[in-house]
Amino acid sequence: MLDKKNFYINGKWVSPVIRNDFEVINPSNEDVFAVISLGSKKDTDIAVQAAKKAFLKWKETSKEKRINLLEKLLKIYKKRFDEMSEAISMEMGAPIDWASSVQTASGQSHLEDFILRLKNFKFEEHFDSKSNNYITYEPIGVCGLITPWNWPINQIALKVIPALATGCTMILKPSEISPISAMLFAEMIDESGFPEGVFNLINGNGTGVGTDLSSHPDIDMISFTGSTRAGRLISKNAAETIKRVCLELGGKGGNIVFADSYTNAVRDGIRNVMSNSGQSCDAPTRMLVEKSIYPRAVKEAVDEANNIKVDVASKKGDHIGPVVSKTQYDKIIDLIKSGIDEGATLSAGGPESPNELNKGYFIKPTIFTNVSNDMRIAKEEIFGPVLSIIPFESEDEAIAIVNDTSYGLGNYLQTEDKEKAHRVAKKLRSGCVYINGNAPDAGTPFGGYQQSGNGREGGNWGLEEYLEVKTITGWR
Ligand code: NAD
Repeated sequence: MLDKKNFYINGKWVSPVIRNDFEVINPSNEDVFAVISLGSKKDTDIAVQAAKKAFLKWKETSKEKRINLLEKLLKIYKKRFDEMSEAISMEMGAPIDWASSVQTASGQSHLEDFILRLKNFKFEEHFDSKSNNYITYEPIGVCGLITPWNWPINQIALKVIPALATGCTMILKPSEISPISAMLFAEMIDESGFPEGVFNLINGNGTGVGTDLSSHPDIDMISFTGSTRAGRLISKNAAETIKRVCLELGGKGGNIVFADSYTNAVRDGIRNVMSNSGQSCDAPTRMLVEKSIYPRAVKEAVDEANNIKVDVASKKGDHIGPVVSKTQYDKIIDLIKSGIDEGATLSAGGPESPNELNKGYFIKPTIFTNVSNDMRIAKEEIFGPVLSIIPFESEDEAIAIVNDTSYGLGNYLQTEDKEKAHRVAKKLRSGCVYINGNAPDAGTPFGGYQQSGNGREGGNWGLEEYLEVKTITGWR
């Protein structure tokens, strides 16, 4: 059993002010494998004061010094890469090979990219060559960073690295369900030699530390990734002190498969939605298939889903793991049952257990066909290995169905017709559109329209979120 009860505040690992133990569960076998503490308002106050004090000096550091420290962090991250993969795999159930090659790798790639962006970022510039005005970009101040469990280190890297890079100080509150990867990352920051108080970590839940950070008068900005439900509450709590609130929230991505799409488009779409056991905010969970290829597409989709193995996260190889918790498991099973009750055709998977294991939160890769866009399974973010297939007849109809959602994070489209691809991509209301299975490059902005959020993370856009912009006149 791992004892992880301390918090990282002001450069030291310290005990919580009030003891409040919380058990961390391995979703592959339901065993408790670590104990953390849930912080109190007092812990939050101590961490915020440390960050506030550290900001006075840290904001004055040179870009070169910050690059230097981030490069040290990158070295340490690479050295402890395998430990990170094990932590992620254990706490949230990602199969170990996938945790390593995708989840842990994403942290490294964000570190590398932000170092590059920082090297080229101009923190001051003349408004134009003749102007007497000067523009400076300054760190916003003390940041509260609140992250989810589904891509734990990816989300942490997308917040902590740009905050460090721009000269902000911070308090990270990772998900209480996946705190071990975050604590390992805190150890790496400590080993890199960042000054005390620049980075602080407190564990806690949403109603406790999450709310205390969101409403704290000495916090200048909250960057949050998680559910739209919590994003709404955070915005309300932050309103009183007019903080900047950057939100990266849920999604209900559409994937338009036109009749002229490439050979493996349907199978790739299935693999994409089922990876991470369906627990990705930009998962393409509604597959829209052109009517002329609908029967073939359904056959391929069902075949592909039935071929996906479900097993414990510690096992090597190509399979999906459990979903993260009992709460998520119950929610997903309830939504699968709602699909059956609302009259969709259950074509693969279903609510029964996928394997002989009598422990762990495992769910069968599930496909519903003949779904209409007003069913719960097509409207709500399920966050599990469940796909809805919806037929369409025309390009306009497909666009209308994809856009008929309160979300707008990632949408996908498959066609060999380049002009059609560009035309449709521009009409989809989302922060990201992925054509023909292409992945975004490191440093491109990531974020949502509508109730998928209001921020953009990654690259220069990610740095700018942590900066205030100042106009100084009479400069010459
Ligand atoms: P969640 O909203 O329940 O929790 C996320 C974090 O917020 C946790 O640290 C939690 O403790 C905290 N929290 C919960 N309620 C809070 C409150 N009232 N005030 C302050 N903090 C609070 O979400 P989750 O279940 O951990 O993560 C899954 C969700 O995250 C999904 O909806 C998914 O789509 C979303 N997500 C979005 C992105 C993106 O970039 N848009 C990326 C990953 C995950």
